[in-house]
Amino acid sequence: MQEITMQRIQARLERARREHPEFTPHGGGIFEALAIIAEEHGEVAAAANDDEGVARVNDELLDLIATGVRALQEEYK
Ligand SMILES: [Mg+2]
Repeated sequence: MQEITMQRIQARLERARREHPEFTPHGGGIFEALAIIAEEHGEVAAAANDDEGVARVNDELLDLIATGVRALQEEYK
């Protein structure tokens, strides 16, 4: 993985944790985490479908990746 990509993911993770300290505030565990991931996936798809440009799509991809990493690290517990 490119170093700049790692840095972008890390920065997005830090922002996500600052803005949403609790990953799954409703106590829904992995299923709530999956719903959050699905929502972010929808935002990527909407940006692509609406032809919002690669920068916007990539910005939403960073959100999606950050939610996936938070799930992988079991932040829903
Ligand atoms: Mg998003």
